[in-house]
Amino acid sequence: MEEKKVSMDKIVNLCKSRGFVFPGSEIYDGFANTWDFGPIGVELKNNIKRAWWKEFVQKDKDTFGVDAAILMNPKVWEASGHVASFGDPKMDCKICKQRFRADTLVEAHSKGSVSAEAMTNEELEAYISEHNIKCPHCGGFSWTPIRKFNPMFITSRGTLEEGADKVYLRPETCQGEYVNFLNVQRTTRAKVPFAIAQIGKSFRNEITPGNFLFRTIEFEQMELQKFCADKDSMAFYEDYKKRAMAFVEGLGLKPEHLRFHDHDKLAHYAKAACDIQYLFPIGWQELNGIHHRGTWDLSRHQEFSGKSMQYTDPFTNEKFIPTVIEYSIGADRLTLALLCEAYDEEKLDNGETRVVMHFKPEIAPYKVAVLPLQKNLNEKALEVLDKLSDYFPCTYDEAGSIGKRYRRQDEIGTPFCVTIDFDTLEKNTVTIRDRDTMQQITIDVKDVAKYVLERI
Ligand code: ATP
Repeated sequence: MEEKKVSMDKIVNLCKSRGFVFPGSEIYDGFANTWDFGPIGVELKNNIKRAWWKEFVQKDKDTFGVDAAILMNPKVWEASGHVASFGDPKMDCKICKQRFRADTLVEAHSKGSVSAEAMTNEELEAYISEHNIKCPHCGGFSWTPIRKFNPMFITSRGTLEEGADKVYLRPETCQGEYVNFLNVQRTTRAKVPFAIAQIGKSFRNEITPGNFLFRTIEFEQMELQKFCADKDSMAFYEDYKKRAMAFVEGLGLKPEHLRFHDHDKLAHYAKAACDIQYLFPIGWQELNGIHHRGTWDLSRHQEFSGKSMQYTDPFTNEKFIPTVIEYSIGADRLTLALLCEAYDEEKLDNGETRVVMHFKPEIAPYKVAVLPLQKNLNEKALEVLDKLSDYFPCTYDEAGSIGKRYRRQDEIGTPFCVTIDFDTLEKNTVTIRDRDTMQQITIDVKDVAKYVLERI
């Protein structure tokens, strides 16, 4: 298995110095586990989100998009089980920083013979220490005291403090799809099986270390819920596993850095659950999840809202609550994976090293950099830039030696540099430099857009 050679520090430094990602609220010394995407990063992440939407929504006639509100009726979070789990007794492993429910640790260790639910926090702590219950993740034994952990951010609705209602920032986007199941089905006249997809922000009160974009308190999810008859559900589950893998490989993640990982423990309503893991600089970690969620979500919303979530099969007249297959991938986590994959340090013939981001041209922030060889060629260069910008995102750089400008573009992964020289004025030609091979060719200005379009 090929080991990843780049460290997270190198990725973070490149991101800060080249404008991919900045620490959140940096002038106030930052705000833990928040990051702001800069001018280059926002282009990259938007390209990734567009590629996902194209693949899973636009190219799939049975999938429909929504963009649901982040603030939802608090009853949604009662139905989802988030409110009930607010007071869960959690403890952190001080060694690997993973967080666990203390009652689950006790029940797993006692193989269900101890009813941890009825135990106080002191009793749970005493049991864990007497039985030397180790961290299931790293095998260490160094626990924080039990704390009640609040997984959702709370805010309030109402202008006066007194009487204001508690509302939550959504910790997952999927509830926006479940609550719109009836609306989407009615307005699209879709027949089960069909899917609802969305890309949107989620907020989680994560306290464990972030590892840059890997785990943040605010992040974007790209996800869909497939509503289907239970008899078809495992076939859709397998299908989404394949499609999810093909998607990330298609964006440029190498197959040897990707693997499936089945969950050992399933939620009581689930038939199957699997992650795709990527070999990040911090090791193999979840990139996305594919979950068989049974009829749990729609049944709970039926129970809590009082609205029937039943679907009537138009051919058999059979009534049933659809089973859900969920596919969910973090846009920020995928961006991080693609940054790690693209990063390369190449030794050049002259002994220097160049850092180059080998993004696939489809996701590269800019497709072309227009570079006038000298300042007095600016006017012509801006004319070329203006024309090319009609076709794809371009950038422009006139500062510094041409060699330095090429390096800057290599570091942000621009696949083509178009250099404007005196021949451009005289013969209307430019040179195009390829990022990966560093080869240059001369072509007519009018052919540049076509040349690039054929290669992106
Ligand atoms: P993890 O086990 O890493 O906490 P999860 O199993 O809770 O993730 P899901 O709720 O299934 O994750 O969310 C789907 C996807 O959203 C994840 O596969 C990941 O890509 C992304 N994601 C989840 N939590 C975060 C976070 N705190 N920061 C960035 N991305 C996240």
